[in-house]
Amino acid sequence: MPLTIPPHLLPTDGRFGSGPSKVRPGQVDHLVANAHVLGTSHRRAPVKDLVHRIREGVTELLGAPDGYEVALGNGGATAFWDLATLCLVERRAQHAAFGEFGGKFAAATSRAPFLEPSQVIAAEPGTVAYLETAEGVDTYATPHNETSTGAVAPVLRPAGSDGAIVLTDGTSGAGALPVDLSQTDAYYFAPQKVFAADGGLWLAVLSPAAVERAARIEGSGRWVPEFLSLTTALENSRQDQTLNTPAVATLLLLADQVEWLLDQGGLEWSTKRSAASAEILYSWARAREWATPFVARPEERSPVVGTIDLAAEIDVDRVLADLRANGVQDVFAYRKLGRNQLRVGMYPAVDPDDVAALTACVDYLVETA
Ligand SMILES: *Cc1c(COP(=O)(O)O)cnc(C)c1O
Repeated sequence: MPLTIPPHLLPTDGRFGSGPSKVRPGQVDHLVANAHVLGTSHRRAPVKDLVHRIREGVTELLGAPDGYEVALGNGGATAFWDLATLCLVERRAQHAAFGEFGGKFAAATSRAPFLEPSQVIAAEPGTVAYLETAEGVDTYATPHNETSTGAVAPVLRPAGSDGAIVLTDGTSGAGALPVDLSQTDAYYFAPQKVFAADGGLWLAVLSPAAVERAARIEGSGRWVPEFLSLTTALENSRQDQTLNTPAVATLLLLADQVEWLLDQGGLEWSTKRSAASAEILYSWARAREWATPFVARPEERSPVVGTIDLAAEIDVDRVLADLRANGVQDVFAYRKLGRNQLRVGMYPAVDPDDVAALTACVDYLVETA
């Protein structure tokens, strides 16, 4: 029998998933209010206007430097890894790999028969691997926020890497972590984390150097399937379209979230809101004998995805089952990490008061067991 958590302890909204993440009720209202756009052509004004709003809003929210462009396409961040492998890596990539997602992109370039073996700078989960300038590397790649472990890395060009490009996986960080986009050439993300939409899309803020690199590689005779062509995606994006049919509902959810973030005060606001949630979570863990932030170095602890190890005598599966039975969902550790751990999505859609309520629920379950 699951324990019943006293109702006054429960969060207002029990969705704490790291992705897909909580969709705000306001986004669903926006979807309903614009239901007449659903089922209409993505080659006509209503949907193209929507894509335009997203491209403009993302440019403003992330403070894209002059000359940077927002491209988008179908397939999520995972598709962008293949697209980048084909269209952006010239001969050899270097990857910082300190969790599942950074590791997956490293595997994608390492498998490409037309590239030299990738250089992988690996670090244990819960720590951060840092890019280092190296001879013969033309592309440097790192996650901004490693969603599988809750570790955050700086977005910085490796010193002396002139002529090379930097690719930053901003999925789960973009929109809630500070960023200076002049330090990267492709800041790409899928919208089901900070942007609280559904999955299935990728977006990328591209520098002129990235656009030029893709044009050169795609013009060089390397075979690039049309679906994975960055140049084709960009040509469509410039016309506020995608190469093939997008999920219009996802575009509506995404557009509303981008505009909500801007209305609240933009990146400065969202950064503070997630940091406030993170302070609640990590200080709670520090004050418990039986809970420890998984990421040892405070400066590497993510403000958007918090990972908290529980002492071995606490059965996390039981805690998770009890939480779920009480409507508090998806705070399980990344499946392949295999730790006695809670992982909490603290994206801007999540109210910091709800993070505090979550900690009170965990206290109750641990103390009542
Ligand atoms: C969720 C996530 C991905 C994968 O996104 P998909 O849209 O499912 O392909 C990639 N990178 C990071 C950092 C993520 O958090």
